[in-house]
Amino acid sequence: MKVPFVDLGAQHRALRKEILEAVTAVIDRTAFILGEEVDAFEEDFASYQGVDHAVGVASGLDALTLALRAMDVGVGDEVVVPANTFVATALAVSQVGATPVLVDVDPLSFNLDPGALEEALTGRTRAVIPVHLYGQIADVDAIGEIAQNAGLMVIEDAAQAHGAEYMGKRAGAWGRAACFSFYPAKNLGALGDGGAVLSNDEEIVKRLRLLRNYGSERKYEHVAKGVNSRLDTLQAAALRVKLRHLDKWNEQRRWAAKIYGDLLGDTGVLLPSVGPERRHVYHLFVVRVSDPVALQAYLASRGIGAGFHYPRPIHLLDAYSDLGRGRGSFPVTEAAADTIVSLPMYPEIKEAQLAYVCEQVKSALASGVTTIVDTPSAVGAG
Ligand SMILES: *Cc1c(COP(=O)(O)O)cnc(C)c1O
Repeated sequence: MKVPFVDLGAQHRALRKEILEAVTAVIDRTAFILGEEVDAFEEDFASYQGVDHAVGVASGLDALTLALRAMDVGVGDEVVVPANTFVATALAVSQVGATPVLVDVDPLSFNLDPGALEEALTGRTRAVIPVHLYGQIADVDAIGEIAQNAGLMVIEDAAQAHGAEYMGKRAGAWGRAACFSFYPAKNLGALGDGGAVLSNDEEIVKRLRLLRNYGSERKYEHVAKGVNSRLDTLQAAALRVKLRHLDKWNEQRRWAAKIYGDLLGDTGVLLPSVGPERRHVYHLFVVRVSDPVALQAYLASRGIGAGFHYPRPIHLLDAYSDLGRGRGSFPVTEAAADTIVSLPMYPEIKEAQLAYVCEQVKSALASGVTTIVDTPSAVGAG
C-alpha cells in the first residue's frame, strides 16, 4: 500500500470539471487582473471566516508583509513571532525592515506562549504575530490581553487555519488583521500561489487595496509606494469553487485525526493536543517520538510519506544567524524540532491507509527504530 504525505490529485480529480469551467469563463472574458472573480472570492472568503473584508494578494508571505506595512510597522520596530513556525512569519517582519523578536511556544499546542510574549516586550514592540500552527487557534485570549495592555497590534498568521475555530469564532476575530496562504497544500489551496488579508478595519483594508496594486486606486494616481501583489484572477476563480468544499474537507481531516487517535492512543506516542473550545482543522497531524528522522525513513521504506514541521527553528536557520540566538535559546521549540514528525494528512485519506500508517508506526516502535517521548518537554535524539 502507498500513503503519500498529501494527495492533491484526489481533490482536483473530483472538481476538475467545475474548476475548468470557472477558469475557462475568466479566459473567455479576458479579464485577467482583479475584476469580478477576485471581488467575489474576497466576499465569499471573508464571509466564510466571519470577517467583514478580505483583500486577495499573491501569497501568504505577501499577506503578512502587506498587513505589517498597512499598519506602518517598519524600521526600528520590533514584532514578536514564535520561534516554532514556517520561516515566512519572520521573513515578513524582516521585509518591512522591522526586527523579528522570537519567543518560545507552549509545549502542548506548540503555539506562541503568552508568558514568553510578556517577557519579550520592550519600548519598541509594535505588534505580535500569533501563528495558528498546524490548524489550531493560538492562545488568543491571553495574547490579546497582553497586546491590549501594551498597545500592540495583533496580526494573526492563519496560513494553516482556514476554518479553524475557538469559541465558535474563526481566524480574523482576534487580530487587527488575519493573514492566509492559498499555497496548494494548505487546507484551502489554489492551483499555484495566492494569499489574503482579512480585516474588520476599513482603514487597513483601504491601505491594503492600494499597497497590493502599485499604491493606486485609480489609474495614473499613485498615492503610496505599493507593490504588485494581487491575487491572480484565475486562482480566485478556482479558489471560489474549492471554498464550497472546505468545510467538508476539514471534517474529513478531523475524522482522519480521530482514527489516528484511536489507533495510536495506546502506543504512548505523543499525539496532537487540542485546547479547550477549539475546532482543530489538522492542516498537519504532528506526533512526537524520540527519533523522528529514523521513523520517517522507516515509513518511507514502506511506502508512507512523512514530514517535519519544522526541523529547524527560525533562530537556528542560517538566514537568521544575525539574531545571535544559538541553541538553548528556546528550549520548548528546540525539543519540539528534535521530536516531531508529521504523518500523512489530507481529506481524501482512506481508513485502510490510516490503519496501515498506524500499523507501521507500531512496528517501528516494536523493532526499536524509535522510542516514545514521555513528556512534552522531552528532548529527542537530535
Ligand atoms: C504557508 C505559510 C506561510 C506562507 O505562505 P505562502 O503562501 O507560502 O507565502 C506563512 N505562515 C505559515 C505559518 C505558513 O504555514
